[in-house]
Amino acid sequence: MSLGTTDKQRETAIVAGASLSGLMTALTLARAGLEVTLLERSARKSRTGAALPVAEGLLGRLTGRSETAYQSIPSGAQAWTDVHASLREAVQSEAHIDLQAPVTVTSAGEDDRSAWVSTDRGEVLHADLLVGADGHRSAVRGLVSPETPNAVFSGYVIWLGLVDEASISAPAWPSDLAILYEGDYCLNAYYLPGEDGSTTRGRRLGWGWYDAGHNELLRKAGVVRGNVVQRTLRPDDMPDSLFRELARDARHYWPEPWREAILDCLARRSIIGTPIGEYLPDRLVTQRICLVGDAAHLPSPMTGRGFSASAEDALALGDALERHDSIGEALRRYEADRLQPARGLVRSGQSFSRSFASRGAGQ
Ligand SMILES: Cc1cc2nc3c(=O)[nH]c(=O)nc-3n(C[C@H](O)[C@H](O)[C@H](O)COP(=O)(O)OP(=O)(O)OC[C@H]3O[C@@H](n4cnc5c(N)ncnc54)[C@H](O)[C@@H]3O)c2cc1C
Repeated sequence: MSLGTTDKQRETAIVAGASLSGLMTALTLARAGLEVTLLERSARKSRTGAALPVAEGLLGRLTGRSETAYQSIPSGAQAWTDVHASLREAVQSEAHIDLQAPVTVTSAGEDDRSAWVSTDRGEVLHADLLVGADGHRSAVRGLVSPETPNAVFSGYVIWLGLVDEASISAPAWPSDLAILYEGDYCLNAYYLPGEDGSTTRGRRLGWGWYDAGHNELLRKAGVVRGNVVQRTLRPDDMPDSLFRELARDARHYWPEPWREAILDCLARRSIIGTPIGEYLPDRLVTQRICLVGDAAHLPSPMTGRGFSASAEDALALGDALERHDSIGEALRRYEADRLQPARGLVRSGQSFSRSFASRGAGQ
């Protein structure tokens, strides 16, 4: 959808959700010649905890800038917060993206002429294209797949934490990444660049502890209802007994330095618990609406590929819009490119989830 002449009016897109997928998609759509309105309900700029494997050159391809701001460690992992900051900075300096936050999309729809959203500000916005980048509990997904709108709880939670290496006295782990199985648990732990993006002035230790034994607690706290994940468990929702239990099991199961890192986070009550859901898509598009990222396909984090799949969505959608003259054709091309790889990814996570969740089934 190249504009050809400078006076041709740019087509318009609304992107619902401005986390990693929404930011990446807004950038590729603006580059494909669309005028983008990006709506984000959260006023918070960052979340802590997860590390993302970022392929060399990917952020440069998405942002159109050289990647000097943040370093990755040799395994290629970067902190979620750093990737988010770098994408957000690129979005804010792009003239054809209007980022609005906090704005919640409350309903959406389409007809032959346009797609539209209503917001909690009482506005109705119209555009040629609506992109749902609104994550694992996507509301836009219900328009694309009304018969299966929800991701399904996978039967386990991941406790996540992050700590400065300087506050850990135990010697470093010999490699950048550890994937350890003990008892009913699995631990993914990794080194990340320090808060200033540097690896030379001190790293951080991130960890994700997979646990299928606390599903009752998740249900009691209301973060999982039926088979649907509602939200992340925050420290305020966590009873003291949970901190004591996790500390006891960390001492028993995990080797240094991860043990000390986990105990440090528990002592500071600086952990979150993310109940894991999965979504296997049957489709990604309608006439003028499409899904990207976790809204489109939600794999278990154990695949380690949610972020790169989201980046592939953003690049494929931008590419399809550049190559095709109508939104409808471009969306069909996008779905043809992305549906099968997305299904393959979710399925590979589901086989891990089935066997892992069965470990906690007796508790
Ligand atoms: C615990 C955990 C560990 C992970 N580990 C890895 C990993 O190791 N490797 C990897 O590649 N990936 C990992 N992922 C996945 C990866 O983080 C995501 O795939 C990627 O960040 C894309 O997310 P997203 O932007 O699609 O969705 P989200 O991050 O969920 O963002 C959705 C955004 O939409 C906004 N929103 C929602 N509803 C509305 C609305 N109605 N109106 C306006 N805004 C709305 C939300 O506020 C949010 O900002 C992990 C995920 C989790 C949960």
